[in-house]
Amino acid sequence: MTVITRFAPSPNGYLHVGHALSALIAHDTARAADGRFLLRIEDIDLDRRRPEYIAAIFEDLNWLGLTWEEPVLHQSEHFKEYLAAADKLIALGLLYPCFSTRAEILAAADADVVDPDGAPVYPGLWRGASAESVGARMAAGDAPALRLNMAAAMQALKAKRGDEPLTFVEVAADGSQRTVAAEPQHWGDAIIVRKDVPASYHLSVVVDDARQGVTHVTRGEDLFRATDLQRLLQELLGFPVPIYTHHRVICWADGRKLSKSNRDMGLRALRDEGATAADIRRVIGMSA
Ligand code: GLU
Repeated sequence: MTVITRFAPSPNGYLHVGHALSALIAHDTARAADGRFLLRIEDIDLDRRRPEYIAAIFEDLNWLGLTWEEPVLHQSEHFKEYLAAADKLIALGLLYPCFSTRAEILAAADADVVDPDGAPVYPGLWRGASAESVGARMAAGDAPALRLNMAAAMQALKAKRGDEPLTFVEVAADGSQRTVAAEPQHWGDAIIVRKDVPASYHLSVVVDDARQGVTHVTRGEDLFRATDLQRLLQELLGFPVPIYTHHRVICWADGRKLSKSNRDMGLRALRDEGATAADIRRVIGMSA
């Protein structure tokens, strides 16, 4: 099996040392196995993506000494494929339109029931809505999001797999592997197709990991539980299952998370201060 890894940044800010860790693990894993390293620009967020951030991604990764295969996939050019996958879920009866606003969801949600990101679980306002009420909103020109009917999806999963649990293999930094039980139900009726763009992070990532034949996914542990939902989508869509590594999230000394607005840990700011690619590897604990 050829090892295929990927680094999949969203171009809505400059890369920081946390991104460097994801990119370097993915790159080094592919190179060590004589495999392939892919770069994917996750730019479905059309309002937030900026061409200068995309250019900066190429520049910063080059500076780190990474090489990747061309052409680079830009997700914003592949909405058709994401919709085709959504169509399969619709055909299985697993998606439904939802017109709820954030405020309506907050007002109706149970504050004690939160998803793995800490957001209130969608209280099912449009689940089971009549064709008339959906039609009336569509006729008024309102665009719906499409949500996964989680209970129906879990039933479809059971029909397919019986009692075989949904799992994924997690590889730790020391190379040891463990099998993790996926519990997608904690996400509730997650959004699979957004209102504003014809895709969502979870849908586009599983479609592209499958299409590009990605065998190893490397990303920060803030996305660890996102894997549960992505495993469910892979299963429903008949996609192969990659192996996962969720590396530690690099924080400030006081424990605050780095973000794209924390310029000081940005790769370009460090470079401007005279850091070298070898320094970055040292800072994040990766040997050169
Ligand atoms: N595009 C996502 C991000 O920049 C990463 C997605 C992934 O690696 O699965 O946070």
